[in-house]
Amino acid sequence: MSTILDRFLDTNIQDLKDRGLYNEIDPLESANGPVITIGGKKLLNLSSNNYLGLATDERLIEAAREALEKYGVGAGAVRTINGTLNLHVQLEEAIARFKGTEDAISFQSGFNCNMAAISAVMDKNDAILSDTLNHASIIDGCRLSKAKIITYEHSDMDDLRKKAKEATESGKYNKVMVITDGVFSMDGDIAKLPEIVEIAKEFDLITYVDDAHGSGVTGDGAGTVKHFGLQKEIDFQIGTLSKAIGVVGGYVAGKRKLIQWLKVRSRPFLFSTAVTPADAAASRKAIEILTDSKELVEKLWDNGRYLKEGLKKLGFDVGNSETPITPCIVGDEKLTQTFSQRLYEEGVYAKAIVFPTVPRGTGRVRNMPTAAHTKEMLDEVIAIYEKVGKELNLI
Ligand code: PMP
Repeated sequence: MSTILDRFLDTNIQDLKDRGLYNEIDPLESANGPVITIGGKKLLNLSSNNYLGLATDERLIEAAREALEKYGVGAGAVRTINGTLNLHVQLEEAIARFKGTEDAISFQSGFNCNMAAISAVMDKNDAILSDTLNHASIIDGCRLSKAKIITYEHSDMDDLRKKAKEATESGKYNKVMVITDGVFSMDGDIAKLPEIVEIAKEFDLITYVDDAHGSGVTGDGAGTVKHFGLQKEIDFQIGTLSKAIGVVGGYVAGKRKLIQWLKVRSRPFLFSTAVTPADAAASRKAIEILTDSKELVEKLWDNGRYLKEGLKKLGFDVGNSETPITPCIVGDEKLTQTFSQRLYEEGVYAKAIVFPTVPRGTGRVRNMPTAAHTKEMLDEVIAIYEKVGKELNLI
């Protein structure tokens, strides 16, 4: 007999499938490098956030192996009981140096970090000014805080200024925060941080930048805040250890007293066990590599420019990306899925990104070139795009 839950699930799953909004998951049988294997098929991979190829870097693997052998597989307790290993502390010190801040705190993921950090500082008597294209974890973190959420049009500084003025002059809120992605991952554009800082100063706002896609990419690798030289102006610098860094985890970098507060007030830090010893050691090694050398970051940008130019020349709409992220905007959701499927059949893994991840009618196949791709691989990708693009009348 079908239950109320069965009926809910059957109707809604079918509805998503009918509208081309249901994403299937394809498990990898290989590392998430420039070439992957799925179902026995080798594919050129343009869908990972492993921007610098560090997920398979021998130096990280060696650091993880040493940590695994010395400390075992798990941290054993939450950070505030006795699950803080010196590896976690060393990682946080390395993050603070890398980001140019007094201190840093790490979390189990970037998602968790936003859940933790926003609600540790903001509450129901506060307001948060949030870019309409902010990541889901920022939105959920804001909701968890119970602060009033006021969205401003994507990167529209006039709208932000107007809403900052209204919120602060209303006298209704104790504190007001402005929160933004550093790099918007679906389009590859960079937040206008100098203007945001100016508005924040004018209206006494707390500033919060989630640079998940900028860390390891912009600002010679140190991120979007560094790119603009605003390390002293941004209160919260958020990053993940799961993308360019190649491992897993998230962090806040900022002033010492902010980090002290987060250590006593952020619930995922207090009530959930930290990343494993191997994760912490591998992340620290990655950050040390990026602090010492720009080679991988330069290779990433070089590959990004090469792919973008190649696709643009063919006539694809690659949007307004300012970073190596290269969207190919199609529009219609079903056509986007077909495009991605045909690319897959021809040997390119480039995922369709559709509503609700991006607004309706702006479906795109998103390409994430990495430092680990060779020019030959990218030439092959461009040739396959040409073939499939012509076949589907996209170019
Ligand atoms: N913030 C932003 C802006 C992101 O793009 C992502 C990942 N998609 C996250 C946070 C979550 O990071 P993680 O995968 O480390 O949880």
